[in-house]
Amino acid sequence: MPLPLEREAIQNLTEELEVIIAAHLAWFKQLNRSLVCACDPPPGDMAPDAHLRSPFGQWYYTHETHPLVEYPAFQELAEVQQAMHNAARLALLDIIQGARPFPETYDNFIDLSLRLNTKLRKLQLDIIGELLTTDPLTGCATRRGMLGKLREEQERAIRIQRPCCICLMDFDRFKRINDELGHPAGDAVLRQGMKFTLGLLRKYDSIYRYGGEEFLICLPGTPLKDAVVVIERIRNGLAHLPVELPSGETLRISASFGLAEMHTRRPVEEAIANADMALIRAKENGRNRIEIWQPE
Ligand code: GH3
Ligand code: MG
Ligand code: MG
Repeated sequence: MPLPLEREAIQNLTEELEVIIAAHLAWFKQLNRSLVCACDPPPGDMAPDAHLRSPFGQWYYTHETHPLVEYPAFQELAEVQQAMHNAARLALLDIIQGARPFPETYDNFIDLSLRLNTKLRKLQLDIIGELLTTDPLTGCATRRGMLGKLREEQERAIRIQRPCCICLMDFDRFKRINDELGHPAGDAVLRQGMKFTLGLLRKYDSIYRYGGEEFLICLPGTPLKDAVVVIERIRNGLAHLPVELPSGETLRISASFGLAEMHTRRPVEEAIANADMALIRAKENGRNRIEIWQPE
């Protein structure tokens, strides 16, 4: 599941998780000390709501709506963390009563603590991975891993017996925008144009920055006739989108589109090449239009 976050938020979260991991390890060390050296445990760790009081708990539960709240790997942390605190409480109870914890109780506490640490690290890696696969200018996915994801969509198309379409989109006369209005104006077009486009796509569609001002849209479970409707909405919307330039002026833009249905038994690269041929035709036929690749 992709993380629905801005690049800056992703960066902040990576750092936030580093702090939480360090805090969890410090807590783990302290608790281990209480168990091994039979010291008095901090009273918070004996409380029934110890999972809320620990540094992790303070972070996890005091956020009203954490940006990762919908993310399954984030949700999974709660269960492990609570079980870990229950295990720690049981082990501490033995110490308070002057006994040594049962090996099973102690093992359970250690296993759960380490599992929580692993889960936090995994979440952090997911977040860093997201950073690497998100284009900072447009928020679209980068080409890294694109072919693999498109192959997965092809397999899904076979499984669900619904076609998948590929569309290549390229902004029109973009070089002229850069040359006449400056590179920051070109960047503004890409940023606002793709924000608009992303807003029109459905949850299961995906979009990759394929080249400088060229993007690949993947429309799973979509026959060509439906894909045309989706892409036409984007084409028409972009043609009416007033792009605000850094100078304060507004600019009218357009883009051209080449659409092709993915063949279920041919390499996905072929569908991309077909969409590219259709895109070239869209440029030749006057731009600001959609062309559909048809087999000969
Ligand atoms: P066409 O209508 O035929 O597509 O013409 P075009 O001018 O859009 O196409 P061309 O490929 O000649 O120019 C693309 C330009 O996009 C050239 C490149 O410098 C510019 N470009 C690529 N990436 C970026 C970017 O991130 N920001 C900006 N501002 N410009 C970029
Ligand atoms: Mg172009
Ligand atoms: Mg181009």
